Amino acid sequence: VRPDTRDEDAWIAAVSRRFGASPRVLLGPGHDAAVVAFDGREVVLKTDTVVDGVDFRLEACGPRAAGRKALAVTASDLAAMAATPRACVVSAVLPPGVTFETFDGIAAGLADAAEETGCEVVGGDTSVAPGPLVITVSAIGEPGPAGVVGRRGARPGDALSVTGALGGSILGRHLTFRPRLAEAQVLASERIPRAMMDLSDGLSTDLPRLCAMSGVGADVEAARVPIHPDAVRAGGARSPLEHALHDGEDFELLLAHAPLEVEALAALAARGVTLHRIGTVTAAAGEVRLLRDGRATPLERGGYDHLARTGP
Ligand SMILES: [Mg+2]
Repeated sequence: VRPDTRDEDAWIAAVSRRFGASPRVLLGPGHDAAVVAFDGREVVLKTDTVVDGVDFRLEACGPRAAGRKALAVTASDLAAMAATPRACVVSAVLPPGVTFETFDGIAAGLADAAEETGCEVVGGDTSVAPGPLVITVSAIGEPGPAGVVGRRGARPGDALSVTGALGGSILGRHLTFRPRLAEAQVLASERIPRAMMDLSDGLSTDLPRLCAMSGVGADVEAARVPIHPDAVRAGGARSPLEHALHDGEDFELLLAHAPLEVEALAALAARGVTLHRIGTVTAAAGEVRLLRDGRATPLERGGYDHLARTGP
């Protein structure tokens, strides 16, 4: 079926049917990463691409920040699966005339992120072509002791929570964020997340994805959404709440879980995980609403869709 819109999710869903799903594929497209079984062991696989002019501006941030981000965004998806990054390979498409200093700067940034996340860089490939710098990091991760978490397990009545304040990451956090690997391990060790993902494209774009995979809906309470100071500083046409709802690249975890008592939340906080409850999972499949001043309105997607931004 040919998608009738330039919608990244629709395109991916349409082509995914071309790919086999043998019994060794435990989780395939639609989750933050894939889970494949080898000899009875599960391996988590992820690839992510960052592009100069789209995901960073090389001239402004420099190669080290770009290289760091390329690996960190991949690690964030492994965190979303409650997996631990172990190793990665890196592919770079370099613009003609690139200097060794730039190339080495990218490597320094990759090394920074490798040290932070435990994801060792073990190989790669380079090519030169006219166009922007492109860095792709493909990583393998290992499930934690409690196993992986996908996007499929949210149930009506579950709480929806995020691990940190949202919005305004363009002011700098989109380069400096720390993947929530430790937080994911703490949450998974307590078997708290029923479904989980990282917020890369904005809450209003990502939450419907989690809902679609779980066959549920969601009510987000505007007054509960934690708004980052950057969302206030960012200004522009969006209100701070709108920045928090729609801006991309927060790289916080979004999870559905059984509602937690105050004591359980305090115990998590003592282990370094602050859960901000933002709403509730509902039985209204596909319906994502914003509750504000006693009114419920559809939460329109205002986040990032690559295809929508690059159409002819
Ligand atoms: Mg993700």
